[in-house]
Amino acid sequence: MSEVNLVLRSTRVITPEGTRAATVTVSGGKIAALLPYDAEVPAGARVEDLGDDVLLPGLVDTHVHVNDPGRTEWEGFWTATRAAAAGGITTLLDMPLNSLPPTTTPDNLRTKQDVARTKAHIDVGFWGGALPSNVKDLRPLYDAGVFGFKAFLSPSGVEEFPELDQEQLARSLAEITGFGGLLIVHAEDPHELAEAPQKSGPEYADFLASRPRDAENAAIEGLIAVAKRLDARVHVLHLSSSDALPLIAAAKHEGVRITVESCPHFLTLTAEEVPDGATEFKCCPPIREAANQDALWEGLADGTIDCIVSDHSPCTTDLKTPDFANAWGGISSLQLGLPAIWTEARKRGHGLEDVVRWMSAAPASLAGLSQKGAIEPGRDADFAVLAPDETFTVDPAELHHRNQVTAYAGKTLHGVVKSTWLRGVRIAHEGVLAEPTGHLLERNN
Ligand SMILES: [Zn+2]
Repeated sequence: MSEVNLVLRSTRVITPEGTRAATVTVSGGKIAALLPYDAEVPAGARVEDLGDDVLLPGLVDTHVHVNDPGRTEWEGFWTATRAAAAGGITTLLDMPLNSLPPTTTPDNLRTKQDVARTKAHIDVGFWGGALPSNVKDLRPLYDAGVFGFKAFLSPSGVEEFPELDQEQLARSLAEITGFGGLLIVHAEDPHELAEAPQKSGPEYADFLASRPRDAENAAIEGLIAVAKRLDARVHVLHLSSSDALPLIAAAKHEGVRITVESCPHFLTLTAEEVPDGATEFKCCPPIREAANQDALWEGLADGTIDCIVSDHSPCTTDLKTPDFANAWGGISSLQLGLPAIWTEARKRGHGLEDVVRWMSAAPASLAGLSQKGAIEPGRDADFAVLAPDETFTVDPAELHHRNQVTAYAGKTLHGVVKSTWLRGVRIAHEGVLAEPTGHLLERNN
């Protein structure tokens, strides 16, 4: 191993065994050792004394819509990865839709990798897409390095990414399971959605009624059944309906290979607070009531929900019309997920160790990123440095993502990200971003 070239020292380092004062040494972009706080520093190494700021593993966000190429005016790799770096995220996985082309063939994956290569400020990997028409492409796409496959069970919002019906779901899932892959699913049932009242306009209650909990519950129930039948590995994206938690808990208990994520907006924002016409709060499934949110936190606490990821899904400002039925759905929070979740978590009695488990360790594990997700010798030297007791008020002008639309404008949040480190290089410091040094990641074989 090469020489230690960087030393980070903090009174609060979050390790898999808990929080402790430690000196972390870095060599060749990897964590070399965790030493006692007052350990002697190797000669010649750069030393960063972080004082009482907390050293966390860099966050892993497995649910980001970068939209590049094709809808780059919505978001691109340059802006998205800068926002992520500023928010303490060191790895993101890009969703296969909203870019043109979508990531549904090996050629399309290469097109996306070519676009991302010189723009990535953090490490970037890709999910593939499972469409009714591309079952034959799934294996080659997996071999080309995607981390798994995303499918919709109801319309995705873009015509180039159609949903799977139950028969197509079973066929794609059987194929993916045949080579040991993972299917990640937008779980809303199209029949339940079709039966819900569809009233357009600026009132949030009408929009909420159009995307009922039953749509999520029914889709998740069906997904559990097919996963069980095929002994497949599945992941529920962006869970909002807390009614589905008992189903998921029972499936996990039975040994069904299912994992679940939720998102900062479901866990920190409520339907009750959405102003009329405020479609920066629109996403599908929707933000639900405060009581639903309380139950989601219980699901996190008891392990039914595994991860918290952003589902950062931006668009241009003009698509956020004040009519909830017609506005583009998607919430942009790449830069704010950590402070938003920390603000709510601390109120609910959780520690930063929990936040790190939900936002770094568990998403890394979901994607099989064994080099990410923990401060441990041998892993990549990816870190976020957080001042957990400092507060700030969200000013959209300070966000690095392309269109500065945010549901968090004006909120005062706890937790200021002081710096972010990728493989031992400081990529963000006090809001200033370095030149891109991110790598393109492929699935570990
Ligand atoms: Zn999404």
